[in-house]
This record gives sequence, structure tokens and C-alpha cells, in this order.
Amino acid sequence: MSDKTYLDWPFFEDRHRRIERELDAWAAANLAGVHEDDVDAACRTLVRKLGGAGWPRYAIGGTAYGAAYEVIDTRVICLVRETLARHSGLADFAFAMQGLGSGAITLFGTEEQKRAYLPRVACGEAIAAFALSEPGAGSDAGALACAARADGDAYVLDGEKTLISNGGIADFYVAFARTGEAEGSRGISAFIVDAATPGFTVAERIEVIAPHPLARLSFKNCRIPRSRLLGVPGGGFKVAMRTLDIFRTSVAAAALGFARRALDEALQRATARTMFKQKLADFQLTQAKLAQMATDLDAAALLTYRAAWLRDQGKTITREAAMAKLTATEAAQTIIDGAVQIWGGLGVVSGQPVEKLYREIRALRIYEGASEVQQLIVARELLRDVAASQARNAASGDSGPAGRRETA
Ligand SMILES: Cc1cc2nc3c(=O)[nH]c(=O)nc-3n(C[C@H](O)[C@H](O)[C@H](O)COP(=O)(O)OP(=O)(O)OC[C@H]3O[C@@H](n4cnc5c(N)ncnc54)[C@H](O)[C@@H]3O)c2cc1C
Repeated sequence: MSDKTYLDWPFFEDRHRRIERELDAWAAANLAGVHEDDVDAACRTLVRKLGGAGWPRYAIGGTAYGAAYEVIDTRVICLVRETLARHSGLADFAFAMQGLGSGAITLFGTEEQKRAYLPRVACGEAIAAFALSEPGAGSDAGALACAARADGDAYVLDGEKTLISNGGIADFYVAFARTGEAEGSRGISAFIVDAATPGFTVAERIEVIAPHPLARLSFKNCRIPRSRLLGVPGGGFKVAMRTLDIFRTSVAAAALGFARRALDEALQRATARTMFKQKLADFQLTQAKLAQMATDLDAAALLTYRAAWLRDQGKTITREAAMAKLTATEAAQTIIDGAVQIWGGLGVVSGQPVEKLYREIRALRIYEGASEVQQLIVARELLRDVAASQARNAASGDSGPAGRRETA
């Protein structure tokens, strides 16, 4: 029932449309029967099912390691997330985490690391996780305190991570720890930590409003072979940011999927519900709501697929990805709230699709950079451009637009 006209936009090629069509049909046939009462079991099932059908091949890069393409195609990742999110939040989560948890290996891994992990991620045999956040370092990730000291042929990790998705069920974690080459973000390194490593424990499971596996992790005298260092010592923050660059845009796409489902549900209810001898959709107040929801959704989708398309052209998309995540997650929250309103009392009954969406969307405005962080990124990029332009004008003796205004 979903409006698919966005697939006609020039951001997409025929292969993108084909992938979306195939995934939509696969999701309709395979996701409805997955019981979500036990999220650990459901996630394991979903990772296996997705892997069996080959979908995580799009979340990694390098055909020699089981990927669909040599380089991750951001538009495909976004289309897969949008489509899965429309069908099942947990399926989107399972796919996204295979990508986020292994993205650093695709981007920075050695040949040996790629061969050891990526094929198992691609077929759903290994579950991946990304462990950056700590109790004292969330938005300010560069302030992380978990420490790694070099000791012979190993690094020894001591510290904590929290709010880690797939915590408790992951087979390996890409974890970030302070190695101290420099102050702040320049003194952090990235490591691959197998879940069975002595000294690594899941300290606490965390329950959230849209249940999925989430945990606080503990590292105590946890020895990681040097061969599991990802990238160069002190380069871990760059590893984290490059990985997030890909997946931040895909968070926007997941928000689009939730919002699109909410709009479908709102349209369906508004055209079915009779009140005051009319359909709810006959009232102009309802039509205004639906029009705003559809318009906000298209605006968010345009920003999202612009960012994805630009990245696939090899462009840096720091500003565009931030605009997309900010707009799509905030718009989706409002659209879903509108759908709950149209559903009335039924909209807040546990288990109704719009009630589930209402819980699913909330965390997307917080993780992988809260909305305020995205605003700061956009502003920083704008102000950097202005400063560069003013410096160029000063060097060429032109006082620039501000100077011209003074003399006008
Ligand atoms: C469901 C869920 C899953 C997660 N999964 C993972 C994961 O897999 N791996 C991982 O490493 N982390 C994960 N996280 C952690 C997530 O990345 C952090 O929650 C996020 O970075 C925010 O950090 P914080 O919670 O410490 O909030 P804080 O850093 O304390 O920020 C609190 C609030 O302050 C505001 N804020 C932030 N910066 C500014 C600013 N400069 N100016 C004004 N206001 C500001 C924002 O509104 C923000 O929400 C997950 C979180 C959730 C909720």
C-alpha cells in the first residue's frame, strides 16, 4: 500500500529499485511470523534469516569477503533499512547492527581481520556490535575513559561501555579504548574483541522502550592480541567517525521507514473510521494532518537520499548526513504522533502498529548523535565555510559581502 513514487527519483538506478522490490516481497513473506517476546531469540532468528537470504551482504564491503559490492553502497543500505523498518523495527535493527558492528572492519581491517569476520557477518553466522559509548562519554565520545595498555603481543583493556546494542548476544564487539598517544580524541584506538575473551563480561542488561538487546559491558584485565587492533594506534576516533558517517544516513532512512508505515496506518484508519456520519478522512482537519505528514516525509526522504547519493559519488557528506538524520528522525517522530492521534484510543493500545512505532522512533533522535549534535555539526560546517571565504577575501584584498554592506 505504501507510496513508492520516491523510487522514481534520480538518486536511484534500476538495481536499487529491484533490490527494494525483492526485499519488500521477502520481508512480507518472512518477517510476520517472528515472535518478539524474547528479543534475544528474535534477534538471533532475524540475523540468521537475513543472512540466509543474503541481505547483510549489502552492509559490508569487499566481494572477496562475501559482500555484494566492493564498496558499501549507501543508497542500498538506506533502501534496505527503510524497507525493513516499514515491516519490522527489530529486523531493521538486526540488519543495521551487522553493518555498524562490522563497518570498521570493512573500512580499516587488515586482510586477515576481514577474512576472519566479514564472511560470517554476511551470512548471519556471527553477530556484530559497536562499543563506543560509556557512562561518562556519550555525545562527547572523545572523552571516553576505557583504557588499553600495550603489554607484549597484546593490549590489556580495562573499563566500561554502556548502552551497547547487541550487548549480550554479539559474537564480537568493535570497541574503542584510550591508548594515550595524545590528549582527547587523538589518543583512542579501536579493537576487535571476541565475546569469549577472558576479562570481558556483560555487566548488566538494559531494558528500553522499544526492546532490543542492549547492555553495559565490562573489561577487566582483558587481553586482546595486537592482531586485533583496527587501524593505527591513536586512530580509533577516526575509525569510529568514518563508520558512523555511513550509518548516520541510514538512521535517517530507518526513520523514513517508520514514518512511511505510520502514514499508511493513518490513511487506512482515516478512510475506514466513521464518525458524525462521515469518514474521518472527510474532515478537512484530518486532510491537513495527512497532507503535512506526507510533505514532511518527502522532504526528509529527499534529504536522506541526497546524502546517500552524494556519498556514493565519493563526496564527503558530513553536513548532508547531519541534515538528513536531524530532519528525518524529528519528522518521523511528529508523523508517528499524528498517526497515533488519528487512531485515537486504539493508537495507544499495546501492540497496535502505531503504538509500536511511537516507541520505536524515540531512540533514533538520540543515538549516533542526538539532534542537538547534528545541529552543531551543520552550524560548524556553515561557519567554517564563512571563515574560509572571509580569509580568502582578506588575502585578495576584497572586504567581502559584510564590508560591501558597510559602504552601501
Ligand atoms: C537504544 C540505544 C541504542 C544505543 N546503541 C549504541 C551502540 O550500539 N553503541 C554505542 O556506542 N552507543 C550506543 N548508544 C548510546 C548512544 O550513542 C548515546 O546514548 C548518545 O550518544 C547520547 O549519549 P548520552 O546518552 O550519554 O547522552 P548525553 O551525552 O548525556 O546527552 C544528553 C542530551 O544532551 C543533549 N546534547 C548533547 N550534546 C549537546 C550540546 N552540545 N548542546 C546542547 N545539548 C546537547 C542531547 O539532547 C542529548 O540527548 C545507544 C543508545 C540508545 C538509546
